[in-house]
Amino acid sequence: MTSSLLPTYARFNLAFERGEGAWLYATNGDKYLDFGAGIAVVSVGHCHPHLVKALKEQGEKLWHVSNLFEIPQAEKLGARLVAESFADLVFFTNSGTEAMEGAIKTARRYQFVSGHPERYRIVTFQGAFHGRTLASVAAGGNPKYLEGFGPPLEGFDSVPFGDLAAVKTAITRETAAILIEPVQGEGGIRVATPDFLEALRALCDAHGLLLIFDEVQSGMGRTGKLFAYQHSRITPDIMGLAKGIGGGFPLGAFLTTRKVGACMTPGTHGTTYGGNPLATAVGNALLDVVLGEGFLAHVVKIGASLGQGLAELQRRYPDVIEEVRGTGLMYGLRVVGAVGAFVNTALEEKLITVPASDNVVRLLPPLTVNEVEIALALTRLNAVAEKISAQAKRAQRGAA
Ligand SMILES: *Cc1c(COP(=O)(O)O)cnc(C)c1O
Repeated sequence: MTSSLLPTYARFNLAFERGEGAWLYATNGDKYLDFGAGIAVVSVGHCHPHLVKALKEQGEKLWHVSNLFEIPQAEKLGARLVAESFADLVFFTNSGTEAMEGAIKTARRYQFVSGHPERYRIVTFQGAFHGRTLASVAAGGNPKYLEGFGPPLEGFDSVPFGDLAAVKTAITRETAAILIEPVQGEGGIRVATPDFLEALRALCDAHGLLLIFDEVQSGMGRTGKLFAYQHSRITPDIMGLAKGIGGGFPLGAFLTTRKVGACMTPGTHGTTYGGNPLATAVGNALLDVVLGEGFLAHVVKIGASLGQGLAELQRRYPDVIEEVRGTGLMYGLRVVGAVGAFVNTALEEKLITVPASDNVVRLLPPLTVNEVEIALALTRLNAVAEKISAQAKRAQRGAA
């Protein structure tokens, strides 16, 4: 079928008509176990009744009024995010890239109003992903995403992930901030150690820099804490959120302290849609679920089962899976062969996974996934590994 959509994606020839919890029902009648969750977005499962109810109720009352007026749903969601985090102030967006764009602008403007207009550069990390606007692709630094789009936005200094000495070397009198994903998502589920994050905090404090965490993928319970930074003893100055925050409704946010956020006075930044009544009504419903009794403990417990099962799978098929990494319900399998072949074979087994860089296949199930579904996913992954292992052996024999 010829598509009218801009060809920016090599899409699978597969569409879905219905979703429930961790399950997706395809238009061809097949049923898939969804360990991609729309790339870590559908955090409480497809069509969670509490979210559907909130969407319907708000949808019948009021969708949008613009940020020229008070929005009680946004005030409420903002206050709740503040109560659960280091932050005092929240700005709502429609996506992760806008959250990071706002975070970057805030860091630069904070330095500007603090008497350091020369500080505009941001230290970033190789393998990072911060979105697709011109600022966020420059921050991500991935040459594939920069090629052909003109001069990249100036002011980002990329260093190897986890390399503290390189960070120190990259800091100059023009540096405004350090920007990092506590767990790199698109980069292949690379987890920064709490020690590393704490060392970055110390560097920022010593040099008057701001620490920005991109928790667009790692936030909202994905790692077993509401925010990944809570596994360490430090807090950032600015944090971007999106993906899981709306459970499938387009919503993002960046959070900051009063000290930093005070520089963003009326007129300095804006959004037409961001934080509208419909989006933030759903965001509040999502938070009801994620902050519910025992929810994050469930993520930790079920994540441990998944991690254990994946480690066993890796031991059984070292010829297919080189490494398992991750935390909570955010796991990556570094595969020996092609990521695409693994993801496709998993689809044949009716299991949805997500490719990432660094030859990694991501497993990002809804946080509501249960033990039975974890066991089933592991059975299917075993079948995938078995198929790929057998294929590789046949190819080897053929070559010999
Ligand atoms: C997905 C992602 C983004 C971009 O979010 P969009 O909603 O696609 O704009 C930014 N940062 C991280 C860490 C992400 O995973």
